[in-house]
Amino acid sequence: MSEVVLRVKNLTKKFGNRVAVDNISFDVFEGEIFGFLGPNGAGKTTAIKMITGLSKPDSGNVLICGKSIKTQFEKAILNVGGIIENPEMYKNLSGLENLKYFAGLYKNVDKKRIDEVVEIVGLSDRIKDKVRTYSLGMKQRLGIAQALLHRPKLLILDEPTNGLDPSGVIEMRRFLKKTAIDEGIGIVISSHNLSEMELMCDSIGIINSGRLEKIRAIDQLKEYNENQQVYLKVNFPNFAGKLIMSNFNPEKISIIKDTLTINISHDKIPEITSLLVSNGIAVYSATAVVKTLEDVFLDTVNRRALPAPKNN
Ligand code: ATP
Repeated sequence: MSEVVLRVKNLTKKFGNRVAVDNISFDVFEGEIFGFLGPNGAGKTTAIKMITGLSKPDSGNVLICGKSIKTQFEKAILNVGGIIENPEMYKNLSGLENLKYFAGLYKNVDKKRIDEVVEIVGLSDRIKDKVRTYSLGMKQRLGIAQALLHRPKLLILDEPTNGLDPSGVIEMRRFLKKTAIDEGIGIVISSHNLSEMELMCDSIGIINSGRLEKIRAIDQLKEYNENQQVYLKVNFPNFAGKLIMSNFNPEKISIIKDTLTINISHDKIPEITSLLVSNGIAVYSATAVVKTLEDVFLDTVNRRALPAPKNN
């Protein structure tokens, strides 16, 4: 059973009257990549700043490896490595010289650990070259190597793929997954780029107007099968509709000509078709509309963006 490395509990932050982060709670386990997904201004950076100790919560708490950032700040923060804005590197020094400099800021980071992080981020071939000759992806990786130096249990990356081309994103994805597992750390990534998050994360929390609306494993989101629309083409649609209603009690059924549209999980299709066939109904086709992560995201964000109904 993997351990919880980050526990966020009822975290809230206001700026004046504006609630930037509204009572959010979630856990991240070692080996897990958790994506914080939300549109601009949703509250991602504000939440991340609180998790990394850069900003104080108004209420709620953050536990890192069981240590509270309120009462055991130094012990908690020791377990965090993060890149919140672009990593600052000395461009006229080599990658290795940069890492040596940052290693010197910690007590227990030796030469062996520097070699290890270079290996983890796959920069061994170029580590002696000057940083100004690095591509953006290489600079990002060097930044992550720096964040990993002191063996944190939690790595926080704010928009890590910003500015990377598709191959850079794929590379980043590969090595973040490997790092999470090999180093046994939890990684939190924030981004508004849906397709990248889908490829990179094990689970995703969708944040909107400061609230954490949904937390799902990415596999669940890919086939988000609650109340999908299932289409059935049959020879006796009204009879079929009654049978389905009384046996499955779906949220909604509508019938147009010979096609029934049913709001039900697509997992039910085999049972529904066998029920119909055993009642002498011919089923010509059965299809389901599976929601993509994008649909789920847009549903969540748009639903909250709608104005409240007026009570006239
Ligand atoms: P983006 O993807 O655009 O970076 P985000 O999800 O990171 O957005 P935040 O930067 O956390 O969003 O902002 C959340 C809300 O809090 C926004 O309405 C923002 O204007 C507000 N906010 C953030 N920082 C401050 C601040 N220092 N003072 C006042 N309001 C702030």
